[in-house]
Amino acid sequence: MNNKITAKGLFHVHSEYSADSNLKLIDIKRNSNGFNFFILCEHEYGLTRKKFADFLNDCKSHSNKGCLFIPGIEIKIGNSHLLLIGNISFEDYLHLKNKKRVNKKDTLLVWAHPEENEIKEISSFLPFLDGIELWNLLHDGTFVFPVKKLRLLRRLKKSNENIKAFIGSDLHNFEFFKKQSLVLSVKRLAIEDVINKIKKGEFFSESGNFKVLGNGSVEFKGKPIAKLPHLTLLSCLYKLYRRLIQLVINISGGILDFLGIKGKVRKRLIIIFRNSFGDY
Ligand SMILES: [Zn+2]
Repeated sequence: MNNKITAKGLFHVHSEYSADSNLKLIDIKRNSNGFNFFILCEHEYGLTRKKFADFLNDCKSHSNKGCLFIPGIEIKIGNSHLLLIGNISFEDYLHLKNKKRVNKKDTLLVWAHPEENEIKEISSFLPFLDGIELWNLLHDGTFVFPVKKLRLLRRLKKSNENIKAFIGSDLHNFEFFKKQSLVLSVKRLAIEDVINKIKKGEFFSESGNFKVLGNGSVEFKGKPIAKLPHLTLLSCLYKLYRRLIQLVINISGGILDFLGIKGKVRKRLIIIFRNSFGDY
């Protein structure tokens, strides 16, 4: 039995256990078509031992052979946010909150939406950090690659080469669902197996036409791009291209208005027009 499953998941999802999301695990599961796992990173505000236990139970009871909920907590240290993920306990959370290392092999520590000026705050965690969000879709926007985060990652890797690169969804509703994914292959869909693969760097994340490998290499439409100036130029051009398409869509909406085309027909025409640009 050496068969491997290619598993597709979402990294950094907020469910109703975070005050600013009302996604229920059952609804995420219902919409999970194509996704095998969800790495939940709930805010710590209002977190009690009881709420934490309910959260773990909920993750367990909604997980099955084809859909796995991996628990995690988004912890504030100063202005920085750290994600503690995996087989975690309430004690682990308190431990990290007290700025101590959680030394368990099936847990991950990831710096969420990192900023250069926050390095000082989390410097004591850097030696055992498993990764950073190279791209947080909520903070950095979708599709346009945040080049400065790659610069930061390369800098951090000089002191800790184990730091991996993630694309985080920071999903609070279904709006950006299915526009990104974290892909890896495992023997069985279990927390330990997924965490183990991530720790080894054997995974990649995708968003739009960009692909980020666990080691921080970046590809655009399947082509590797190693030089930061190239990536900067590509990102700028891509941003411009997206803005132009948006402008063209807005103008065409104006033309439909001018022609007096309204309601469902207008909506339908705009969708057809938008889709004709593909995944722009
Ligand atoms: Zn978050």
